[in-house]
Amino acid sequence: METMELKIGWLYPTLMSTYGDRGNVICLQRRCQWRNLPVTIIPLDQQASPTQLKEVDLIVGGGAQDRQQEIVMRDLKGAKADILRDKIESGTPGVFTCGSPQLLGHYYEPALGQRIEGLGLLDFVSKHPGIEAKRCIGNVVFEVTASPLAEDLKTMLGIAPLIIGFENHGGRTYLGKVAPLGKVIKGYGNNGEDGYEGAFYHHAIATYSHGPLLPKNPFMADWLIQKALEQKYQTSINLTKLDDSLAFQAREAMFKRLDLNN
Ligand code: GLN
Repeated sequence: METMELKIGWLYPTLMSTYGDRGNVICLQRRCQWRNLPVTIIPLDQQASPTQLKEVDLIVGGGAQDRQQEIVMRDLKGAKADILRDKIESGTPGVFTCGSPQLLGHYYEPALGQRIEGLGLLDFVSKHPGIEAKRCIGNVVFEVTASPLAEDLKTMLGIAPLIIGFENHGGRTYLGKVAPLGKVIKGYGNNGEDGYEGAFYHHAIATYSHGPLLPKNPFMADWLIQKALEQKYQTSINLTKLDDSLAFQAREAMFKRLDLNN
């Protein structure tokens, strides 16, 4: 059988790594290496070619400030936009945090300046209510409701785990027909009003949850790795279990601090 390997594409690491989301890339990389699965990280900055984007098996996008998002959207046009759209539509998995989902939706209206047109891939809009408005900052906990992610996590762990993260955003996201990723238990989520957190489309996870998200919720990393391998090799994959006892102890400590039980 063919030796498996994964290519992780990291969207705009120099412009969109303001909020520690690099931790998601490291987490995916380490969890592949611990299983002796060769992994390559492909930084997809402005100078990256559309072909490089085309070759990736899993995509990670982080958060950014409004100004950087505008620069990114000027680059993410034409061939790169078409490839990213095709990949997500055809099931390439990805995790997109905060600023990057805002770019996958129809548009983002920043605190200052012009509306930034997004890829229109996910059916939502994001708007910053202005520099005077309070930012949504703090620990966030949510229950995954998106199908089949929620069922897959339950099968993987025997329970439906809560997701713990940390949010820091000015923009508010309002979903159209796209499924929410989950239901907020603590924190603001998409807009602090409707109780939804993030969005889920094919195998793309869009969320306001930094953390970074994956080290705090390592089963999400495994879900992404599994889907990426299944998608690439068209066979069902059972990942070997890793010892996540420290991550689970850290989760327990957070749940206690937030007066929650999981
Ligand atoms: N600039 C966006 C906002 O404030 C995204 C912030 C982020 O990525 N954390 O909503």
